[in-house]
Amino acid sequence: MSVNISGFVNKVVEGKTCTGCGLCVGIDESGESYMKDSKYGPRPVISNNSIISEEITTACPGYELNYPELYKKFYKQYPKNWLTGQIHSVYQGFSNEEIIRINGASGGILTHVLIHLLRTKRIDAALVVKQGIPSPEKARIIVANTPDEVLKASQSVYIPVSTLDILNKLESGKNYAITCLPDQAAALRQLQVNGNEKSLQIKYVIGPYTGTALYPSAIEYYLKSKGVKKNDTITSLKWRAGEWPGYLEIKTSTGKVFRSKKVYYNFLIPFFVTNSSLQSMDFTNEFSDLAVGDAWSEKYEKLGHGFSVVVTRTKKMDNIINEMAGAGLINLQKQELDFASSMHGHMIDFKKRGSYIRNKMRRLIGKKAPTFGYTPSKVFFSRILVELFISSLFLFGKTELARAVLFIVPEKTLGVMFNTLRLKWKAISKPVKRKSLSDYNVTILKND
Ligand SMILES: Cc1cc2nc3c(=O)[nH]c(=O)nc-3n(C[C@H](O)[C@H](O)[C@H](O)COP(=O)(O)OP(=O)(O)OC[C@H]3O[C@@H](n4cnc5c(N)ncnc54)[C@H](O)[C@@H]3O)c2cc1C
Repeated sequence: MSVNISGFVNKVVEGKTCTGCGLCVGIDESGESYMKDSKYGPRPVISNNSIISEEITTACPGYELNYPELYKKFYKQYPKNWLTGQIHSVYQGFSNEEIIRINGASGGILTHVLIHLLRTKRIDAALVVKQGIPSPEKARIIVANTPDEVLKASQSVYIPVSTLDILNKLESGKNYAITCLPDQAAALRQLQVNGNEKSLQIKYVIGPYTGTALYPSAIEYYLKSKGVKKNDTITSLKWRAGEWPGYLEIKTSTGKVFRSKKVYYNFLIPFFVTNSSLQSMDFTNEFSDLAVGDAWSEKYEKLGHGFSVVVTRTKKMDNIINEMAGAGLINLQKQELDFASSMHGHMIDFKKRGSYIRNKMRRLIGKKAPTFGYTPSKVFFSRILVELFISSLFLFGKTELARAVLFIVPEKTLGVMFNTLRLKWKAISKPVKRKSLSDYNVTILKND
């Protein structure tokens, strides 16, 4: 039975927990709803004639997407490790095709897998996110029908992009693969376990590890702080241009080119981090067939070129990437399971305990926040104190007063300062943040 459920969606948006995934629009049978750009990223505009199935109430990641239940339904079991989710195998890897590796955000694995799925006719098209559509500073999900189109959509896009609104544009009878952020992959799986026909046309879900994304205004402020006038428009924007780990590269109509190293433009995070990044408890894309992150370590960073942490979650995907490695398309080195988390301890803690504390604090002050159906079994008081400090920084960072810093302090100084402070803070908070992270366990909340 279908019901008009626009009130539900509007409440999620008003409660500021909407992640902008596009699910509600993608399953609106009227086809009249759409996603609209806002300063917080894409948000749904629900038509008065909308026909959205009630399944939105269990699949919307801004509401109450229940991870433990989804684990039982999709993987038929809970994960052995709640930090990294259900894992089939873990690898260090990169594409052996130089152009794919160079263009990729890390090792080009996501792009190469999609190209391989197309070439072996396992899929008819890949649904990928591409920077530059409809204008250079924006990004959209597109249908890529050829390997070249997939290649042109490689790299990470660090502003929010809706992906699931593409569902009602899929051509019947065709098979697809999609790149999704963690909240979107989980929402899609929820539809699939419900038997939603459109969602079942998506045969492969792949996606990045996801720490933080930025509100679109980050770029506006960045350029303003460099004295770029409004009429000097952006002609090209790349988040991970050049040699890994890459740099933010912006070109403008008057021929100006701005480049900022990845580790330096991270200074934008405290000022523009999205609410979804602070809310999600999923860093490693727990419901993707294939999850890929940067292999951050001194060893790989010295070697350059791009190295990825590669996690397969299903046998089907593990067979595919081993078939690719066997054919010499990609380089894969099998790793112990803890390779999936060892380079990302801080970000995993930021999600698995940090998001839990932040969401709880929001609820305590009467705001909305999802629970995802579980809580960490143990959270030390010291960790709560650390979170209070981090959250205060983010809260202050988003004020106009704090953002004025961007205009006063030159980017070079700010970038170096932020990176130094970040590393210092990582070292100081490491004992508290890593405390018992290896014993992380969860309490599953009863469904009421
Ligand atoms: C918002 C965001 C935050 C991230 N945070 C971290 C982090 O904290 N730590 C870490 O190790 N890695 C993080 N990553 C992942 C990392 O940046 C690389 O995407 C990952 O290493 C895969 O590299 P690759 O070379 O295989 O990808 P590529 O071969 O470059 O392919 C990337 C694919 O992902 C798709 N894509 C890009 N952006 C999006 C998006 N926003 N939504 C959906 N699909 C998208 C592209 O269309 C492309 O197909 C993040 C990625 C994103 C998008």
